[in-house]
Amino acid sequence: MTAIGTSALRSRVIAANWKMNHGPTAARAFMASFAARYAPLPDRDVLIFPPALSLAAAIAGAGERPPVGFGVQNVYWADKGAFTGESSAPMAKDAGADFVLVGHSERRHVFGETDGDTAKKCAAVERAGLTPLLCVGETLEERDRGTTEEVVLRQLRAGLAELDQREATTSILAYEPVWCIGTGRTATPEDASRIHAVIREGLRDLVGDRARDVRILYGGSVTPDNATSLLAAPEVDGLLVGGASLDVESWLSICTA
Ligand code: PEP
Repeated sequence: MTAIGTSALRSRVIAANWKMNHGPTAARAFMASFAARYAPLPDRDVLIFPPALSLAAAIAGAGERPPVGFGVQNVYWADKGAFTGESSAPMAKDAGADFVLVGHSERRHVFGETDGDTAKKCAAVERAGLTPLLCVGETLEERDRGTTEEVVLRQLRAGLAELDQREATTSILAYEPVWCIGTGRTATPEDASRIHAVIREGLRDLVGDRARDVRILYGGSVTPDNATSLLAAPEVDGLLVGGASLDVESWLSICTA
């Protein structure tokens, strides 16, 4: 895998968020099938975010030289303690994760995660030596109100607030309009490019020219049919894929788009 965040050319990241799908048995079988058929491409990193309970099985299924990186979909910000039901970033690292999704829209809107929570989670992820993949994106209501840019910039600044410049530039970002997630609606490549450029401009205010090294992924109803045009859009450095990452055929075709 390319060293994360060090490439001025911004190698692509194609990431699968399995959400609460694929238990250990299915995860192992999926990864065995995928690893047997995916020949890693030099211009991209492929990441898999299984449910935490399936992480070990997914890693085992991928074999001795996994052609992908692994992450978890969430962590709590404390390293350990009386937080029943939660897992920490050091535990995720110990279990084989290198990446952590932070601020996914389902965490924000189903579980009430706040901007402040995302800041603490990104900081905990960095402290553990893992890489956060911070998700930002507006709801349909916010879009209709014309506040998309304000919302994504607020979420960006908040999520990165406790990171130093190096940590902020080695993080990965995903623009995921909430109205596109799991809905079958996709932002046009032009729309995605425009908001990605806004996000990069916001990053420039935080980290200066190093903003150009940060990978910004698009997510929201990506499929094998629209992956190529989204990836071709300026400023779109990769994809974060939910539903279409659950089937090996469809995921292979997105990974090679
Ligand atoms: C996601 O879960 O991050 C996502 C983008 O889901 P979907 O591809 O199913 O819209």
